[in-house]
Amino acid sequence: MNERSSRGADTASSGPGLSRLLLDRFVSGLHGRVIVSPDPDYEPARALWNGMIDRRPALVARCRDNDDVVVSVNFARDNGLPLAVRGGGHGVAGQAVCDGGLVVDLSEMTDTDVDPEGLTARAQGGCTLADLDRATQRYGLAAPLGVVSATGIAGLTLSGGMGWLRRKYGLSCDNLVSARVVTADGKVLTASESENQDLFWAIRGGGGNFGVVTSFDYRMHPVGPRVFLCHVYYPLERAQEVLRACEGYVAEVPEEAAPLAVLGRIPRVEAYPAAVHGEPFVAIFAVSTGAGEAAAEEGERALRPLREVTEPLCDLSEHTAYTEAQQFLDEDYPDGGLYYWKSVNAPELSDKLIERLTEHAAAAPSPDSTIDVWYQGGAMARVGEQETAFANRGVPYLFGIEGNWDHEGDSERNLAWVRDTFADLRHFSTGGVYLNFPGFLEEGEQLLREGYGGNYERLSAVKAKYDPGNLFRLNANIQPAS
Ligand code: FAD
Repeated sequence: MNERSSRGADTASSGPGLSRLLLDRFVSGLHGRVIVSPDPDYEPARALWNGMIDRRPALVARCRDNDDVVVSVNFARDNGLPLAVRGGGHGVAGQAVCDGGLVVDLSEMTDTDVDPEGLTARAQGGCTLADLDRATQRYGLAAPLGVVSATGIAGLTLSGGMGWLRRKYGLSCDNLVSARVVTADGKVLTASESENQDLFWAIRGGGGNFGVVTSFDYRMHPVGPRVFLCHVYYPLERAQEVLRACEGYVAEVPEEAAPLAVLGRIPRVEAYPAAVHGEPFVAIFAVSTGAGEAAAEEGERALRPLREVTEPLCDLSEHTAYTEAQQFLDEDYPDGGLYYWKSVNAPELSDKLIERLTEHAAAAPSPDSTIDVWYQGGAMARVGEQETAFANRGVPYLFGIEGNWDHEGDSERNLAWVRDTFADLRHFSTGGVYLNFPGFLEEGEQLLREGYGGNYERLSAVKAKYDPGNLFRLNANIQPAS
C-alpha cells in the first residue's frame, strides 16, 4: 500500500457514509492530501483562528492546485456533501470548516507572482496578507489589504477588504483585475472586465457564494517601503475631541490617510508604559500611504495632527517598514482566542453617539474587547454602489464591535456585551453591516440583505447562473433566484 492509499483506507472508517472505493478514488485523484480523523494533522486542520468554532469535517482536502479544487468540488457536489472553503481561516463566523462535510483547504496554495512593470500581482487563494505584502514590498508595491497580516486575502477580498490604503486606493475588491474561479459545475473560469463580467462583478463583494477562487490578480500601488505608523492613545474620556479631530482630519486630507479609531483598554504588556496599563483609551491608528525615500518623513508630517489632539496616555508612533506596520496589530488577535464580532454602519457621528460608544467601550467585560471606528470615504466611496457587488460604500462610518476574550467561562458575558452594544448602536444607523465582520451570522436574512444592500437581487440572479443548487452555501449566503 502506498502512502496515499493508506490515507484512503483511513477515510473508510470516518467517511460520511461513502464507499471505500469512492473515497480511495477521490484521494488518489488529488495532488494534495486528504486529512481525516484520526490523522495527527486532523485537529490542526479543523482548527480555525476563532476558538469559538468547533466543527468536525469528514474530509479536509488540502489542495495543491486548480485541478485539486476541481476534483474536490466535483466530489462534494456528486456525493451531496456540505462544502466549506478555507482561505486564511480568519473568517469570524468560522464557516471555513463544516460538520460532516468536505473542506476545500487552500492553505498550501500560497504562491505569488509580482509583475512590477505591469503593476499587478497574482496571489493564490490560500495567501495571507503577509504572504502578498512580503512579495510585493520587494518592489516597493502594495495592494490595499486589511490591517492584520494573518488574515486571508480570499475572504477579505471577496467581501470587500478595508485597510490603511482604503481612502487612497479603495477596497481590496476594487483593486482586483481578475480571478480564477472554480464554479459549482467544476469549471475553471476567469472572471475579469472582459471575461465572465457578471461573475467578476459578483465576486467583488458577494463573498464565497460563486465558487472557489484559486487566484486573485491585483492592481498594485507604490507604497513605502518605509512608512510612518501613527499609534497614539488618548484617555477614553477625551473621545469627543479625538473622534471629532479624526473627522475633521479626513475632511481636510481626503485621500492621504485612513484613520482607525479604537476604544479599549491598554494591554498589560511591556510594549506600553506600566503607568498606563489597564487605562481606558481612545486610540488613533493610521499608516502613511506615500512611496519613496522621503515617504516616512512626509508621512510623519501628514499624520502629525492626529497625534496632537490632546495630551496622550502614550504615543508609540514610529517610522517603520510597511510590512511591519501591516503586522503591528497581529499580537492582539492570537489564534484560538475566543471572538465574537458585529458591525454597524452610521451616517454621522453625533455627540450622543460618541457618548454611547464611550459608555459601551468602558462596560466591556473583557479588557481585550474594543469598539473600532472606521473612517470610510475617499477612493472606496468614489466607486459606484452598483459598479461592484460591495454595498453601503457611501456610508462615512463603520463601527466594529469586537468581543475578544480568553476563557470559555466568560463567553456568556462577552456575547451579551456585543449583542447589547450592537442593538444600541443600531439606533444610530440607517442600516447596513460589513459582511466581513459578523460572528455566527445569527441575525438571519435581514442583516445579510442589509449587507448586500441594493445589489442583492442582481447577486441572486448571478448565483442562479453559476451555483443554482447552492453548493457554496456556507457563507453569507445568497439564495439563487428561482
Ligand atoms: P476564511 O475563514 O478562510 O474564509 C471566510 C469565508 O470566505 C469562507 O467561509 C468562504 O465562504 C470564503 N472563502 C474563503 N476563501 C475562499 C476562496 N478562495 N474562494 C471562495 N470563497 C472563499 N476585514 C477587513 O476588511 N479589514 C481588516 O482590517 C480586517 N481585519 C481583520 C482582522 C482579524 C484578526 C480578523 C479575524 C478578521 C479581519 N477582517 C478584516 C475580516 C476578514 O476580512 C474576514 O474575516 C475574512 O473572511 C477573512 O478571510 P479568510 O480567507 O482568512 O477567512
